[in-house]
Amino acid sequence: MSITDSNVLIIEHSIPVNLLLTQYLKRMGFSKILVCENAESGIKTFEGLALEKRDPIVFLGYHLPDNTAAGLISKLFAIAPDVKIIIETSLDRKDPKIRQLFSMGVFHYLQKPLRLSSVNHVLETIQKEVDEFNNIGIDGRRVLEILRSLKKTSVVRLAEYCNYDPKSLLPFLRRQQEKSVIYEVSKIREIGCRDCNSVNNISIFSCDSCGGQNFRRDTLIEHYDCGNISTHDTYDNEQCPKCNKRIKIIGGDYRVMNDFYICNECDQRFQTPHQNFICSKCGSKFSLDEANWIESKVFCFTNNQNETKPFEEQSEFSEIDTSEDLTIIQK
Ligand SMILES: [Zn+2]
Ligand SMILES: [Zn+2]
Ligand SMILES: [Zn+2]
Repeated sequence: MSITDSNVLIIEHSIPVNLLLTQYLKRMGFSKILVCENAESGIKTFEGLALEKRDPIVFLGYHLPDNTAAGLISKLFAIAPDVKIIIETSLDRKDPKIRQLFSMGVFHYLQKPLRLSSVNHVLETIQKEVDEFNNIGIDGRRVLEILRSLKKTSVVRLAEYCNYDPKSLLPFLRRQQEKSVIYEVSKIREIGCRDCNSVNNISIFSCDSCGGQNFRRDTLIEHYDCGNISTHDTYDNEQCPKCNKRIKIIGGDYRVMNDFYICNECDQRFQTPHQNFICSKCGSKFSLDEANWIESKVFCFTNNQNETKPFEEQSEFSEIDTSEDLTIIQK
């Protein structure tokens, strides 16, 4: 897909800059160009386009009359996490104010005064980026929407929700990490299905003895004198139901055992219910001993774009190492 079919939204207060940029873009083959001269109308227009799934490429002037570039950028990202924003400014790309925007996830920079060649270069970079993701067939918007709704999840789980191979999803996530849209939290080991490795499993708990799921949690009292063990409600008026003696001193003649499970079907008492898993994907039922442990990285959606790590200079198209990011530990 050629990005010249995309909508372009220019949010820039300088009329001469807008005219020049529009002229350049038309010469490159863009035809759907919208211009807003302040942040408020820029956001409104952007929202409208995003709602119709016509996400524009945004050219953003650094100085706006009614909002800071940083303020506007966080609003744009909140609407569409994968929006491509090109910041146009006369400030140097090493200027701390511009670096702050980079750390918020703005990846494309255009030096003012604008030149046709530099506008061309930045759009070529975006075209490459679009091609790269089209090649691996990742629907970036969907992935980010799912990750945002989950807030934090493992690569394996996210890949499963989106129906992608985790290894093909990782380069996309790495790129979002570079843009500080998401960040890596830690590694996690998850229960994988014995038969298909899916991490989408339901835990089921049952009675140790009969396997039924009709059990309750209760408190047991043991009377040392006669050895009776029964639930606390059987000790009516603090009287032992077996020997009818009064229980007096906790720790002296009786003890209390909290958090015991009692089966309502077979009356079995147990401290820990038996745990099994049912795979939501293939339906297989398996125990903890039979599970495959799957280790993968956990990513978290960056909520406050300003709280991200300081920007590190990176090439706009760095190679991504995908090795050793995913391990399946077979039993
Ligand atoms: Zn399975
Ligand atoms: Zn039972
Ligand atoms: Zn007793």
